[in-house]
Parts: sequence; structure tokens; C-alpha cells
Amino acid sequence: MTAGRDVIVTVRPLLPPVEKLTTALAEVFDSGVITNDGPRVRALESLLSAALGMEDLAVCASGTTAIQLACCALEMTGEVLVPAAAFPAAAQAVLRAGGTPIAVDIEPTYLTMDPAAAAAAVTPRTCGIMAVHTFGCPADVDALESLAATAGIPLLFDGAACWGVRFRDRPLLSFGDASTLSLHATKLTHSVEGGAVMSRTRSISDKIRRLRNFGSTPDGALAAGTNARMSELHAAVGAIVLGEAGAEISRRQAIRRLYEDGLRTLPWLEPCAFRSDAASNIGAFPVRLAPDTGYDAEQLSDALLRYGVHTRAYFAGRYRIHAIARHAATPHADAAARSIVCLPFWGAMTSQEVFRVIEALRAVHTGHRAAR
Ligand SMILES: *Cc1c(COP(=O)(O)O)cnc(C)c1O
Repeated sequence: MTAGRDVIVTVRPLLPPVEKLTTALAEVFDSGVITNDGPRVRALESLLSAALGMEDLAVCASGTTAIQLACCALEMTGEVLVPAAAFPAAAQAVLRAGGTPIAVDIEPTYLTMDPAAAAAAVTPRTCGIMAVHTFGCPADVDALESLAATAGIPLLFDGAACWGVRFRDRPLLSFGDASTLSLHATKLTHSVEGGAVMSRTRSISDKIRRLRNFGSTPDGALAAGTNARMSELHAAVGAIVLGEAGAEISRRQAIRRLYEDGLRTLPWLEPCAFRSDAASNIGAFPVRLAPDTGYDAEQLSDALLRYGVHTRAYFAGRYRIHAIARHAATPHADAAARSIVCLPFWGAMTSQEVFRVIEALRAVHTGHRAAR
């Protein structure tokens, strides 16, 4: 790290004015109800439902437990196709829910599950598809929906980083049999820790509400139940942060444009493509390293740290999940592990900070070439 300079982190949580939070938290304490499906949880569910235009929605403890609960609700407890390059939570959640994740390759351009690879991996044992809208970029929803329909199996989307992303004039989170959202502090809108499951074509929110609360039903507790509740305190924070999400989206769009201008001066690095019928990516800022630089994504990420810039090579190193069965070789996922890095990206970044990231990228590249 360069002495005397602040570190530029990968993401800074959206933090509303603390007075708003203290008032809301004091109200929770005054009410005496601090968890167990209280009024703030229901209120946050209504706010999220209204924003998405989807009534079938239930919140829970995290984006990861949202995937677990959705897998249980959709009975995806046999072989489940998952993308070979994705945040590890997706495959982990399938495992926790009792399923067996089978990794299939991703598309080289959009980094989302390759429908042809998925089709080749479907067997009579396949009981679901769990695709990821990677870094907020829509998966190939048409091809995956038709594959799932033909095979007669449910389609679940991990849309953890997709708040505010619209696809063909619909919220991206409204596709598939169900979608999951993360409300973790690193996401565009958050409740510090939290998640949600939403569904358009099946009513699953009642199941999610039971499963998150030990699977309790009048007839007994479902074995798949767990404690994945959201507390009233988290829900209260979630409602306040959500009120600021619109402004955060506009700020992120401006930061994105600054980056795009700066990156035009670095021909060995390009912003990852975004599907054309979706508005611009506000979830993350992934870039792709040209294959002939002589260094890979992890090495770039390590070198940037010396300039006080935190980035993440999300498909490599400590994020790479091992011991998951693969249907076939996954050359595109392997290439993504070598080439994809997410740059610092949040709404309150200054143009100075964006400029520093660009200059650090340039310095790493120049330094590497000089050393060769
Ligand atoms: C953040 C994220 C998760 C995990 O969400 P948590 O709320 O941290 O459990 C899962 N999948 C993807 C794609 C994510 O970006």
C-alpha cells in the first residue's frame, strides 16, 4: 500500500444518516418485539414486493440461506445444475439444502450458465437448475426457461447482486420459478445481513416463511426447516436503506461512465459485456484482462493492493469451490478464473478514487512489462 493514502475498498456499504437509523432502532426496542416474524419484517417484505411488483416474496437471514430455502421449497434435492464459475454460496447452498450440485460451464461473453452445456448435462436424475445472474448480468433466461420447461424441472436464479437491474422492462428478479436476493451490506440495497426469495409462477413465500422458522406447521416441524429468520432490527435498517437505493443507482451509473472513459486508455482491460436488453450494470464492475498480459486476475489483484486498491478475482483462489462434480470440462469457467476482476464500485466513490484505480491499473501493467 502506498503510504499516506487511504485504501480504496471494493465496496462501501450504503449508509443512511445515522439519525434515521437510531430513530427506527429505538422504535423497535420500544415495541418490545425484536425478532420472530414481527411487523418490521412484514413491512420490509411489502416494500420489496411493491418495488418489484411481485407479491410472492419472503425475506430471510442472508442471500445464502435464501438459496437454501428456495431449493427446499422447489424440492431441488437431487442433482442440481450450477454454473462452474460463480460465487461459492450458490453451490454451497444447494449442498446444504440436500441437493448435489453438478457444475456446468459458463458462456465466455456474459459469464453466466451456458444453456448448451446445461442441456448436455441434464439426466433423469436432474431435479433443478440453479443459474446465477453473475455480477448482476442477466443469465440467458429464455434458453434456460425453455430447457427447464422441456425437462420438467424448476429453474432458480441466484440474483444476489441484482437489485435495481431491469431486463426487458421487468425486474430481473421476476424471472424463473423463483429468484433469490442478498441484502448483505456489500450489495446495492441491504439490511446489514439478509436475503429474500421471490417467485412469480409459484406461490413459495408461505413455504419459505415456514422453512425459515424451523419448518413449523400446525402438523409438525418439517425436517428441512432451519433458523433463517431476519430480525426486526435488520428489517428496520433494510427499510431505511431501501429508501436510498434509487439515488445509489444514479450515482453508480455515473461512476460506471467515469470508469468506462478511463478504461478506454487501457487497451488490455475491458469492462465485461452486459446483455443488450438490460439497462447498465449497477451491481458490480467486472473487467476482463487480455490473455497476453503475462499476469492473471489474482496476480493483478495482489499487485493492486500495493497501490492501496482492493479488487476481487471472484472466480479464483479463495473463492474457488473445490470438490464439486463437473459434468464435463469447463474451459470458459477456467478462463474466467484467470481473467476476471471486479473493480471497486459503489455510489459514493469520488472521481478522484476512480482515477486512482485507473492509474494503479496502468502502473501495475507498466511495471510488469518493465520487469519482463
Ligand atoms: C453476495 C452473494 C451471495 C451471498 O449472499 P449473502 O447475503 O452474503 O449470503 C450469493 N450469491 C451471489 C452471486 C452473491 O453475489
